[in-house]
Amino acid sequence: MVRQPMADYARRDYGRCPCSGVYDNRFVEVRLTIGGKVVVLTDVPQGACPVCGSRVYKAEVLERIESLMKGAKVKKAL
Ligand SMILES: [Zn+2]
Repeated sequence: MVRQPMADYARRDYGRCPCSGVYDNRFVEVRLTIGGKVVVLTDVPQGACPVCGSRVYKAEVLERIESLMKGAKVKKAL
């Protein structure tokens, strides 16, 4: 199991939810299975709307997750 702290990505506000609620800043754990290996992202910043319950991630976080997935694919091809 690989742990990847993501706290560095928590630098910006999420702003407002379309429902008019204000997103809460919180940190969650995200588990991914990449190439048969479990990768746990810790302290992943997440915006959660207290009104409607919708959740958002920052673009940087999604990019990071995508690049982890791509990295695994490249490794597999080799
Ligand atoms: Zn909302």
